[in-house]
Amino acid sequence: MLSARPPRPEPPAAVPDAPLAAVPDAPLAAVPYAPPAAVPYAPPAAVLFDRDGTLVVDVPYCADPELVTPVPTARAALFLLRAAGIPVGVVSNQSGIARGLLNRDQVEAVNRRVDDLLGPFDVWQVCPHGPEDGCACRKPAPGMVLAAAQRLGVAPGDVAVVGDIGADVGAARAAGARSVLVPTEVTLPEEVATAPVVRPDLLAAVQYLLYRPSTVTGLAEVR
Ligand SMILES: [Mg+2]
Ligand SMILES: [Zn+2]
Repeated sequence: MLSARPPRPEPPAAVPDAPLAAVPDAPLAAVPYAPPAAVPYAPPAAVLFDRDGTLVVDVPYCADPELVTPVPTARAALFLLRAAGIPVGVVSNQSGIARGLLNRDQVEAVNRRVDDLLGPFDVWQVCPHGPEDGCACRKPAPGMVLAAAQRLGVAPGDVAVVGDIGADVGAARAAGARSVLVPTEVTLPEEVATAPVVRPDLLAAVQYLLYRPSTVTGLAEVR
C-alpha cells in the first residue's frame, strides 16, 4: 500500500525588498581607488633582425644556402610579430663581399634561403662593405636601420633592432631605435653589460617587445 506523500510545506511568505533608500551608497570619496597610471609603452612599429647569429646559426662568410639553419625560436618569434601585424626586416653586414670571400650572388642565394625558411620579410638591407670602407650602412652605423625604416614608412624611433652583438645595438642606438641583444657565444661580456635590454632567445626578445613584462607585472625592468 502506498503511503501518502506528505504535504509540501508552504513557501515562505515573500519578503518585500527593503526600500533602496534604506541602504545609502557609501560616499565615493570613501573608496580609496586610483586608476592605474597610463601605460607609457607601445610595441614597435617594425622589428629588424640581424641575420647571422640572430635569425640563423652563424656560419662565417656563408656562401652555401644549404648551410642556413634557423635558430630554435626564430619561427615562433616571427609568427608572433606577423600575427600582431608588425612588419619584420633583416639588416645584415656582409663584409665577406668586400673581403673577396663571397660574391653578391652567393649572399643573395643565402638570403633567399633565409626567406624561404623564415620569410617573407618586409624589407632586406645588406651592407657589402668592409670595416675600412667608412660606409654609412655597416653596423654600428645607422644607415641600414634608417633605410629600412624609410622603406617601411615608420619613424626610426618606433623601430626595434634585435641582434647578437654590440654592433647591432650600436646601429639601433645611432638610428634612435630601440634594441634587444640576444647573446651567443661570440657576444662579448661588455656588449652584454652595456646593452639596454638583453633576452636569452628570439622568442623572449619578441615577447619583451610586444608585451614588455614591466607593463604586465608592474615590476621594474632590471635593465
Ligand atoms: Mg650577428
Ligand atoms: Zn656599407
